[in-house]
Amino acid sequence: MATHKLLLLAGDGIGPEVTAEVKRVISWLDAQGIASFAVEEDLVGGCAYDAHGVPVSDAAMERAKAADAILLGAVGGPKWAGVPYEHRPEAGLLRLRKDLSLFANLRPALCYPALADASSLKREVVEGLDILIVRELTGGVYFGEPKTILDLGNGQKRAIDTQVYDTYEIDRIAAVAFELARTRRNKVTSAEKHNVMRSGVLWKDTVTALHAKDYKDVELEHQLADSLAMQLVRWPKQFDVIVTDNLFGDILSDIASMLTGSLGMLPSASLGAVDATTGKRAAMYEPVHGSAPDIAGRGIANPIAMIGSLGMALRYSFGLGDVADKIEAAIAGVLAAGLRTADIRAPGGPIIGTADMGEAIVAELAKQTA
Ligand code: NAD
Repeated sequence: MATHKLLLLAGDGIGPEVTAEVKRVISWLDAQGIASFAVEEDLVGGCAYDAHGVPVSDAAMERAKAADAILLGAVGGPKWAGVPYEHRPEAGLLRLRKDLSLFANLRPALCYPALADASSLKREVVEGLDILIVRELTGGVYFGEPKTILDLGNGQKRAIDTQVYDTYEIDRIAAVAFELARTRRNKVTSAEKHNVMRSGVLWKDTVTALHAKDYKDVELEHQLADSLAMQLVRWPKQFDVIVTDNLFGDILSDIASMLTGSLGMLPSASLGAVDATTGKRAAMYEPVHGSAPDIAGRGIANPIAMIGSLGMALRYSFGLGDVADKIEAAIAGVLAAGLRTADIRAPGGPIIGTADMGEAIVAELAKQTA
């Protein structure tokens, strides 16, 4: 059995608390012989700044580059509000994304039946929802130059951000979306605004050309990003994989994530290109939530987003989709049994803590694999 090199970066706040629970799952999978892991740990965020004066050390970066996948908890918190801008905890995350060229951000929105009533939308709109947003993460208006605020000298200022996309950037993110669709319900919806943006015209043309060349077997549709935002809350089950740029993806993935309830439930993945010689792709998996300083240290954080992030690593980095399915089924199982952390509590219902939720998921996994 292949041994998977996993780097754990627990980070700050509730990061270490939810990481402890994912370690419980990793150890169990290892002990059962279901998967084999070589686990290393290092610091990122405020804790790395405290130890090394930087939010991610060069040594941690080397470990990250050598790993098959990185699993990151969360970074940040009020303790580091005053540190120099370039050393703020989030800069550690940004360095990881940049140095590993993690250009594809995957955000699933999965609605567990037991939590359908926690959504702000009607049960029939979200029950059984399973969509995946693929967001371009390293280009577009967040990075394009010029990016500046000019003083016009007449009491006015002018702010400039620049939306730039090259063909190769669109090609590689669209390819990720088509490949993923083939493993799901085989449909890609591409979102841009070709009606008012030149980058939207190139985006649409490039996705269309790639589809015709390599992915004719996948259903492709195009939607304007604003219209897609509306469709996401009207009838989200029409979608399978949605591919879009950095800015629209930022907004659309936040909308999609809230279809399914709490931040504590949402995993994500950021993927790089496949290395032509090794066949490996850099990958970092992390919950969507932050370090939740308001509840840190109290043992009440929901570990499901973190455990779901391990599920994504198993699926997308280790070729263990069957084990990922079991993790998702175990999460669905504990929720169906009525177990809830405080953030997903049913009105007036009982709650359990972080460690109890981790234990319950492992017990459910054991039942499912028995
Ligand atoms: P947050 O996601 O940390 O918290 C928002 C709210 O959701 C809080 O009320 C929190 O208690 C709750 N919450 C979050 N995760 C939860 C979980 N697993 N279980 C139960 N409740 C949960 O966002 P924020 O408060 O805006 O940011 C706090 C810090 O985290 C800031 O320093 C911010 O910069 C940082 N942050 C980091 C990341 C990251 O590491 N990827 C992402 C977002 C924010």
